[in-house]
Amino acid sequence: MADYALIKQELEGIAVEDNPALVRQKSRDFYWYSPVLKAQLDHVTADLVASPKSEEEVIRILKVAYAHGVPVTPRGAGTGNYGQAMPLSGGIVLNMALMNAVKEIKPGRVVCEPGIIMAELDRQTRAHSGQELRFHPSTAQTATIGGFIAGGSGGVGSITWGGLRDLGNILRLRVVTMEAEPRVLELSAWDLQKVSHAYGTNGIITEVEMPLAPAYDWIDVIVGYDSFMEAVKFADGLTHRNGILLKEVAPIAAPIPFDYFTRHKPWLKQGQSVVVLMVAPHSLEPFLAYAQMMKGDIRFRSDTVESMKGIPHAYELAWNHTTLRALKLDTGFTYLQVQYPGPDHVEKVRQMDEMFPGEVFGHLEFIKFNGQIQCAGLPLVRYTSEERLNEIIRLHEENGCPIFNPHRYTLEEGGMKQTDMVQLDFKKETDPKGLLNPGKMIAWENPDFDFASGKNYLFPGLQSMSEA
Ligand SMILES: Cc1cc2nc3c(=O)[nH]c(=O)nc-3n(C[C@H](O)[C@H](O)[C@H](O)COP(=O)(O)OP(=O)(O)OC[C@H]3O[C@@H](n4cnc5c(N)ncnc54)[C@H](O)[C@@H]3O)c2cc1C
Repeated sequence: MADYALIKQELEGIAVEDNPALVRQKSRDFYWYSPVLKAQLDHVTADLVASPKSEEEVIRILKVAYAHGVPVTPRGAGTGNYGQAMPLSGGIVLNMALMNAVKEIKPGRVVCEPGIIMAELDRQTRAHSGQELRFHPSTAQTATIGGFIAGGSGGVGSITWGGLRDLGNILRLRVVTMEAEPRVLELSAWDLQKVSHAYGTNGIITEVEMPLAPAYDWIDVIVGYDSFMEAVKFADGLTHRNGILLKEVAPIAAPIPFDYFTRHKPWLKQGQSVVVLMVAPHSLEPFLAYAQMMKGDIRFRSDTVESMKGIPHAYELAWNHTTLRALKLDTGFTYLQVQYPGPDHVEKVRQMDEMFPGEVFGHLEFIKFNGQIQCAGLPLVRYTSEERLNEIIRLHEENGCPIFNPHRYTLEEGGMKQTDMVQLDFKKETDPKGLLNPGKMIAWENPDFDFASGKNYLFPGLQSMSEA
């Protein structure tokens, strides 16, 4: 057991918290979204929370933690939903929320600290020069830009710009290493893949440079259809028209919208599936012409509603907010993350939609993927057991629809189910003792793990904590 009294002394001048209730609060994220992760991670807590205000303080904390052999798990706002920010071996939670300064805004780019909330970053770049982030997760009002880069993938705006993995969607990161003498590295271009979506396992991001797009007063629109597949075809046709500028396109199957989109309910029709959209003001007229041609039932428009007071942004009905809204009113739901590879993505959606009536409810996000418009799925699932969930996953995969499993806390099992050599090699360089966010990168913990075995990885440190 590390000497935390001594560690606190050595961190004098830096904000630290060791009240167990407060530490536990900052040791949790949205892991409880998954009934599987909830059971596995409920007991997880750190020993100390340290909240640096500058890169110098980050370096001091990492130096002390390294000397004591104490794990460090970075945290933005804790909105990740795979337990990404949970300290599986205890130790220090590095709360990055106080590092939230915007340093420079220029045409097409912004430089900022990682702890800034994305909606606040957008407010500042809009006020400065009418620019905004190219895309953001649906948690923009609460999540940090650093947490998005280290733990997220894409979101609102990805229909035009793709995701974080696309070259050019992050410009530069400053990263501090976990060594006896921490180094500060500047990464750009291909090197960004070393730390983006690595859950903070191989470096602490202390500065971010992101590309910007022109900001618009996006108009929220909800279009209704009597069947989910009509909604999907509308969305697919719309997103393949070149001239209409959209920021969000999400078909969602009945009964989810009417039953769970409480604030929009007065505008929705029972039994209808919907498409949730954000449309640029100058594209509204052509958009409406297309909707009319496709016999879409325009249920809601933020530009014609009397007041938007108390009504959430359209994007807060989409991405993982769809799941959140259903879960808030009915804890019997969980969800999956599905790829429907093109060009026959619409046919694949139809096949999967027909396979699980009353059990799996369609929710798609249209995005640009490798230059093509495709759809990814976040379908809601009526949860009965882990066995049935695994069966639903298997049936998707057997039908050519790969699943990114949101019920796993490791990078590999939630992703491509294979070792990411670039991230692993970088970790060898930057975190030789394996102290950064332990348990999240299987390739580090157990290089011989056989992903084809069908077994789930259980991090030994997690087990010993539950036995303690
Ligand atoms: C309702 C809901 C909707 C969501 N919608 C989306 C979505 O549309 N798109 C999407 O991609 N995700 C989505 N997510 C997941 C999550 O919100 C996003 O990934 C979010 O951007 C995470 O930001 P955060 O500040 O909360 O990060 P956290 O959850 O605190 O951290 C995320 C990961 O980043 C690491 N980390 C944090 N800061 C740093 C740093 N400075 N340096 C190194 N590592 C760091 C953490 O250790 C953790 O592994 C959603 C989640 C919820 C609950």
